[in-house]
Amino acid sequence: MANILIIGAGGVSQVATVKCAMNSEVFTNITLASRTKSKCDAIAKFIKERLGVEISTAKIDADDTDAVVELIKKTKADLLLNVALPYQDLTLMDACVKAGIPYIDTANYEHPDTAKFEYKLQWAKDGEFKNANTMALLGSGFDPGVTNVFCAYAQQNLFDEIHEIDILDCNAGDHGYAFATNFNPEINLREVSAKGRYWQKNDKGVGEWIETEPMQIMFKWDYPRVGVKDSYLLYHEELESLVKNIKGLKRIRFFMTFGQSYLTHMKCLENVGMLRIDEVEHNGVKIVPIQFLKTLLPDPASLGPRTKGKTNIGCVIRGLKDGLERQVYIYNVCDHEACFAETGAQAVSYTTGVPAMIGSMMVAKGIWSGKGVFNMEQFDAKPFMDELNKQGLPWEIIEMKPGQRYEV
Ligand code: NDP
Repeated sequence: MANILIIGAGGVSQVATVKCAMNSEVFTNITLASRTKSKCDAIAKFIKERLGVEISTAKIDADDTDAVVELIKKTKADLLLNVALPYQDLTLMDACVKAGIPYIDTANYEHPDTAKFEYKLQWAKDGEFKNANTMALLGSGFDPGVTNVFCAYAQQNLFDEIHEIDILDCNAGDHGYAFATNFNPEINLREVSAKGRYWQKNDKGVGEWIETEPMQIMFKWDYPRVGVKDSYLLYHEELESLVKNIKGLKRIRFFMTFGQSYLTHMKCLENVGMLRIDEVEHNGVKIVPIQFLKTLLPDPASLGPRTKGKTNIGCVIRGLKDGLERQVYIYNVCDHEACFAETGAQAVSYTTGVPAMIGSMMVAKGIWSGKGVFNMEQFDAKPFMDELNKQGLPWEIIEMKPGQRYEV
């Protein structure tokens, strides 16, 4: 039915590609292309051995729009899934516009030299996608991605008005290293070392962004089936689109759990300049410290066999239904070892790669369609929620008493 071109061959790609192959009645042709072809071949071999499905592989530089257009034409792809890095979002979007096919990604564009997390440059391509008669679906991972769909589901089915959203991301996995990141170290460390930010309406009813120092706001939250974890306020990209698309919102925040070992290492690395994203000269060679650090740290794809424990990511949503206060907690719990057994990757890659496949499936089947650039919450959430249950990310809803907190 659909011929998909997947770009990037890291941990997220491993899961997304395996899951596309598990849905081969939808994805009848799969091509996996990345900078290092041997990584694509390793994923193809895993899929052939596990599922008996053949996929094609290719080498591509995703920064080269014309080369991507050529590959789209050569493979006759109907849609492109970008699971490379956020640096490649714009060139890959341009390639999809030129070829007239849908584009799907999991992370908003970042320029390598400026740690700015915003949709501005991607939203600006709305007209180009409309003119090309096709669509872009932005942020089809877990957060952003499933968290946006949880909010859309609540808006469409559970509430008349949503007033407050807290997105709560807990990874209680233990990989046994003193310090490692669960997805691309450069992208992960840029995100968590940035200033925190949340959005709320002031007394005059005007929405404003409140900035905090990194890791300034922390509270303890009792995550169902995981336990109590320190959760820190961060800025996260889905806040930007949810503020636009969830009507009546008064406050939205994002929290992520971190262990003390991670935070201590991060602080030390920051203090000695290892998280710098600008070039420095070392023995006559120009290097970017955070990129050098990435070379030293464990490859996130290698954490799979060592990681034990669970993730719990979800949204606490407060608002009104039939004139009464309502509060629900929608979340998914995922087990690192079960994810590895099924796909060869740990739960952070799994929770991103499965929704990347489902978003691609929604577009391939025409269940989510349109012309222009879209975020996840702009579509009917129900079919996506149904697929989460079928594809390995079942969700649960707890009806909380108004005012009830899991804070401890
Ligand atoms: P990895 O670093 O493991 O993989 C990235 C892949 O992209 C590598 O195979 C890399 O190639 C390839 N790549 C990088 N640059 C290029 C290029 N110019 N041309 C072609 N290929 C390129 O990252 P992850 O798998 O951990 O993450 C993938 C994406 O998922 C990231 O954008 C990340 O931000 C996003 N993400 C989203 C989440 C969500 O919930 N929404 C959560 C976690 C991640 P090479 O092998 O040669 O280095």
